[in-house]
Amino acid sequence: MSNLGTARNPVRAAIVGSGPSGFYAAEALLESEQTVLVDMFERLPSPFGLVRSGVAPDHPKLKQPIRVYQQIAGSPPFRFLGNVTVGRDITVEELKGCYHVVIFACGAETDRSLGVAGEHLAGSHAATEFVGWYNGHPDYRDLVFDLSHETAVVIGQGNVAVDVCRILCKTADELRHTDICGHALEVLAQSKIRDVYMIGRRGPAQAKFTHQELRELGNLVGCDPVVDPRDLELNPASREELADRRNRANIKSYEVLQAFSARPTPTRHRCCHIQFLRSPRELKGEKRLERVVLARNRLEGEPSQQVARETGEAEELACGVLFRSIGYRGVPIAGVPFDDGRGVFPNRDGRIVDGQNVVPGLYVAGWIKRGPTGIIGTNREDSVATVNSLLADLPKIDAGAKPGADGMKGLLESRRIRVVSYADWQKIDAAEVRRGAAAGKPREKFTRVEEMLEALGHLN
Ligand code: NAP
Repeated sequence: MSNLGTARNPVRAAIVGSGPSGFYAAEALLESEQTVLVDMFERLPSPFGLVRSGVAPDHPKLKQPIRVYQQIAGSPPFRFLGNVTVGRDITVEELKGCYHVVIFACGAETDRSLGVAGEHLAGSHAATEFVGWYNGHPDYRDLVFDLSHETAVVIGQGNVAVDVCRILCKTADELRHTDICGHALEVLAQSKIRDVYMIGRRGPAQAKFTHQELRELGNLVGCDPVVDPRDLELNPASREELADRRNRANIKSYEVLQAFSARPTPTRHRCCHIQFLRSPRELKGEKRLERVVLARNRLEGEPSQQVARETGEAEELACGVLFRSIGYRGVPIAGVPFDDGRGVFPNRDGRIVDGQNVVPGLYVAGWIKRGPTGIIGTNREDSVATVNSLLADLPKIDAGAKPGADGMKGLLESRRIRVVSYADWQKIDAAEVRRGAAAGKPREKFTRVEEMLEALGHLN
């Protein structure tokens, strides 16, 4: 009988990615009845994925799961290997050689595109880039967002779109004491934007934002939400959708929209216009974005399956900056099968498949498994399901002893990779908190990898 999973031959598990799904997978492995040693690989020196670089700076409560991740990271069978990019610094084959099982929990790192003319004009951006920029993700640190125009357009009506609108609409004073990065606050403080349009291709009954997030747009110091009551008229199928109590969340959002539409004439400095049944058909401009052509839509289809169809009418909206916020998308890693259509690693119950065949030892969890949906907590259930598949497979896995990260030490050193341990991260973390304290902020993040490594040098 295999002794894999015992103290003499622990399961060596690698987790690729240190966001929520990675930490919940680690937790499930460490709480299992098997003896498991977990090594978590992260391409940045900092852990926590989108909780650090996606959650809005003015939503500190949503970052509380970090406390749970800190506890998991403190558990002795857990190791963090930051600043190591799987697929570049080490190959998937090399990982497989050192571990019995590998769980990919690397999220959905890029954005979906609209596929319309002018999409790449200067002034047109992915919301994911803007979010990464104000949250200090090193990949986006040097992007430039020109907010010297009066009108901004956000395409899409999910919670990311609401985050982007809110950050654009808040005053600098509303953001000053959050963990928003200094470089972003500086630009936002100079913003000339007066009107922000959040545009949905379908109707108010189908919008993806949640009512709590939507409601916040009505509580800003310097901005009024604006909804045209005509935009809230519903077709029979949408009325049926909202009459269904299973759609309680959408009903609540609809009520918030009704309350916004009943507000008196806006008086504040900025307006956040929420508009429906419009799709960008083209972005126009000589050298940079000047206006967006919006096709008017109607809905077609059965309740809960309605799709937007162009009516043939269109309108132009002058704007200087546009953010497409139409969802994230996973990126491939060399050596792992990829479903290009869905932007995920193809899998059955978390087991990565190549065509019809399960790839032994490779698993997937989180957004790179199911696509970019759900809140942070959704990932716990998802990761537990993957770990259950993995544990069920253990009897079939080659029980030969594996070295884990110790087997890669030489490789990483020869490639001059400065591995950042969890203790290193704790030093970086403390330094960020100290930097923030001076400005009355929870932290001032380091926004470049070199800065983080340099800080470690000084702190050692
Ligand atoms: P999302 O919720 O899936 O919203 C995407 C939006 O883009 C939808 O309005 C969608 O419209 C629209 N869209 C898609 N393709 C389009 C196209 N070709 N043209 C025009 N519009 C298009 O995605 P997300 O906002 O990126 O959020 C991702 C996940 O993170 C969600 O589960 C979200 O709840 C979560 N999140 C939560 C929070 C929070 O809890 N505070 C904050 C941020 C994100 P259709 O409905 O018509 O497809």
